[in-house]
Amino acid sequence: MQQFDVVIIGAGPAGGHCARLLASKGYQVLLVEQHRDFRHNNYSSAGTPLETLAQFDLPDSVVARYWRNLTLVSSQQQHTWHALAPQGAVFDFAKLRAYLAETAQAQGAQVWLGHRFLAHQPEAGKTLVMLKQRGGSTINVLTQVLVDATGYARAVMYPPKVARPQFYQGTGIEYLIEVDAETYAQYQDTLVFFLGYRWSPRGYSWIFPMDHQQLKVGSAWIEGEHRHLKDLRPLREYTTAILKDYLKLDTYKTIEIHGSILDYASGLQDIYCQDNIIAIGDAVSTVNFLGGEGIRHAMQGANIAVPYIEAYLQNQRENFQGYEQAMKAHFLQKWNASEQIGKRVYLEYSDEKIDLGVAYLKYFSFQDVIDLLFNYRFDKIYGGLYPYLLKKLAQWQQRVQQWLHPRKTSP
Ligand SMILES: Cc1cc2nc3c(=O)[nH]c(=O)nc-3n(C[C@H](O)[C@H](O)[C@H](O)COP(=O)(O)OP(=O)(O)OC[C@H]3O[C@@H](n4cnc5c(N)ncnc54)[C@H](O)[C@@H]3O)c2cc1C
Repeated sequence: MQQFDVVIIGAGPAGGHCARLLASKGYQVLLVEQHRDFRHNNYSSAGTPLETLAQFDLPDSVVARYWRNLTLVSSQQQHTWHALAPQGAVFDFAKLRAYLAETAQAQGAQVWLGHRFLAHQPEAGKTLVMLKQRGGSTINVLTQVLVDATGYARAVMYPPKVARPQFYQGTGIEYLIEVDAETYAQYQDTLVFFLGYRWSPRGYSWIFPMDHQQLKVGSAWIEGEHRHLKDLRPLREYTTAILKDYLKLDTYKTIEIHGSILDYASGLQDIYCQDNIIAIGDAVSTVNFLGGEGIRHAMQGANIAVPYIEAYLQNQRENFQGYEQAMKAHFLQKWNASEQIGKRVYLEYSDEKIDLGVAYLKYFSFQDVIDLLFNYRFDKIYGGLYPYLLKKLAQWQQRVQQWLHPRKTSP
């Protein structure tokens, strides 16, 4: 039976990055992924701010397209912020994960694609891990540390018979399409986000540019009762409405349609570790609730976990005590604030209020919007002059509405 220092289940951004970090330090690492090919679960829109590339030492080759403009669209409002230089990237998600796995392999790790994790059990102070090769037999390996990097599946921490707590569930669907040159030229440098009842009730939609004249057009929402909205169409219809009514595309080529879910534990109440097992990435809700952005946070989680894994392997600690606190010190405050705002915007706000929010954001600089969306600087909304301006804008809008429709009261 093969033996490893660390077996990592799941070759997403968390698992792949963790594997290359540990392999580069000389540990015997096995990275296991259920899919045979990274193109098989190419589900993420994979937008990210520019600093992610330098922060995680990622090459240009994993980027499909750089973006430098950002557009926000609601039912009645639209605004674009422009920049001359790139502000971020859209990864080719398949290439990103393949790159992480390949660099881990180049540092000596083994990568087993097409192998599914089945179960684990303690054995002689180590852990026996049972894997099933696609269409093949069961393989057992022995490891000192087992890492759950299986994303929302949490396959190691919550095996099939273990009761799962109530998670907030987000569902996303995305069309990867090839468009005509004129349409592509319009969107090739821009991230477009849609909010509000017309385009994306209970969540948000997007258009992200890719290479080869391709665009990603998707919608995501969170499950849960909306305060005002009762009858929703199927999620996919909001995406197709963007293709038809916003992009006004008569013809386009659908390359693929994919989707996935995200399970987020309110207050980050996840299982972080058990004996010699440790969880990273979306398996411990590193995805941001408000934006559904999770790639760089999954990798950051691996950065936090690796020193604990190393100390365990070097017999400097007997368990991963302190890891949960370290993760929460990094994420909890911002993630709680994101959750509160996300729940309000997606499940409580009227469409008028969302329009008003977008109208208000027009007065923000591009840097402020990036700070808000990618750096979770909510003080930008709630601090200083902004609440005053928001109040003024609301009063002004109310007066205009009363003037236009004297008997109508705004919600
Ligand atoms: C529609 C959608 C759009 C998104 N857009 C963005 C975006 O624009 N930017 C961004 O930063 N984030 C985005 N995200 C979120 C982001 O993709 C995730 O947060 C991130 O991929 C999490 O990384 P991870 O490694 O923790 O988990 P995952 O990427 O989910 O990887 C987990 C891996 O584990 C494997 N696995 C699961 N169970 C087993 C098993 N039993 N045996 C073996 N392997 C197993 C899976 O096949 C998978 O490859 C999006 C998510 C969705 C759903």
